[in-house]
Amino acid sequence: MKSTFSNNYATKCTTDLKMRVYTSQLLGKDMNLVLHGGGNTSVKIDGKLYVKGSGWNLDTIEEAGFPGVDLETLIDMAKLDYISDTDMVAQQREALEDKSSPNPSIEAILHAIIPFKYVDHTHADAVVTISNTPEGEKRLKELYGSNMLLIDYVMPGFVLAKEIYEQTKDVDWKSLDGLILLNHGVFSFDDDAKIAYEKMIAIVNKAEVYLQENAVSKELRFSKSFCKLDDSFKDELKSEVSKLRGCDIVMRFGSSIEAVSFSNFDNLDDIFKNGPLTPEHVIRTKPFPAIIADNIEEGLSAFTSRYKKYFKTHAKDEIMLDLAPRYAIIKGVGFVALGKDKKEVDIIFDIISHTISAMTLAQNMGGWKSLSPSDIFDMEYWELEQAKLAKAVS
Ligand SMILES: [Zn+2]
Repeated sequence: MKSTFSNNYATKCTTDLKMRVYTSQLLGKDMNLVLHGGGNTSVKIDGKLYVKGSGWNLDTIEEAGFPGVDLETLIDMAKLDYISDTDMVAQQREALEDKSSPNPSIEAILHAIIPFKYVDHTHADAVVTISNTPEGEKRLKELYGSNMLLIDYVMPGFVLAKEIYEQTKDVDWKSLDGLILLNHGVFSFDDDAKIAYEKMIAIVNKAEVYLQENAVSKELRFSKSFCKLDDSFKDELKSEVSKLRGCDIVMRFGSSIEAVSFSNFDNLDDIFKNGPLTPEHVIRTKPFPAIIADNIEEGLSAFTSRYKKYFKTHAKDEIMLDLAPRYAIIKGVGFVALGKDKKEVDIIFDIISHTISAMTLAQNMGGWKSLSPSDIFDMEYWELEQAKLAKAVS
């Protein structure tokens, strides 16, 4: 991965906020760093934290996408013992410079406590791929050395911000090259926008080189196609998934060589026991796909039983979401994204394309191991995400 920073363009960014917009877009435009609304960035100016607002994507973000929040209020919140994520969002709204701004990112407190002007956060594929392996933490330690702070997985939101606040009380931030949230993503920071951005690129590039040397294999798994991807197969799949979802659905097939090869892994059930590429993906994709070998009905019914069991095991008082898979792996053929409209199907398609690349690489590093089923559940049924979905439905 290379920096795409243009000194020429940067001279046109005459304010700190304009500079923030510029490097945020650079990060957002690389799908190996963030996908569809993933990641967030911030800048501290005159006692305010301008942080990505909810509903904005980094690739197209503008100044209006950075609500300003009182920095001291955010830092004080990190000192609380506990606050629910819903109350945290409400208090952050109270501290907004302009009340008509969007909600600040759920990671606003975390951005506030990092004592640098520019803070960049991505879900870089290469870094999370290494992290999502059985020896991920050890590999990252060896790769980055002691100047990279590694934080065990904690659910995003107040609890994560609090955890980092506690763990970094005695840390000399100036000695750190960055911060990796295991199974989740990376933070880089600096008082200079270009340097913060280029630190991110350097961290990710190092992981990409590591994967080239340790995980890339030319081996492809071909088999006789189990399924005939003809019109009747497509019609049946569409109609059955529509019934489960309770609305029409749109399908998008992924049948690159890599997708076909992935679909032929013998241990797909095991791979999909072990979490998404980065936690928030589960909200789009559900925790696992339907796996269809030669019979659509069987594949879908195995999915719904598995999902019901997963829900029953982990639910406290949540209400179960619909039972339609958001994607299916079709043995010998590749995968298919299953969305309620074009926008959703394209998002799922991109997430799954990146996910199967990462999972394939991980097979050469001892297997795939991301979040536990209970962590996945907490994310899928997170109060704020559920509220967002409810809003989108109404
Ligand atoms: Zn994140």
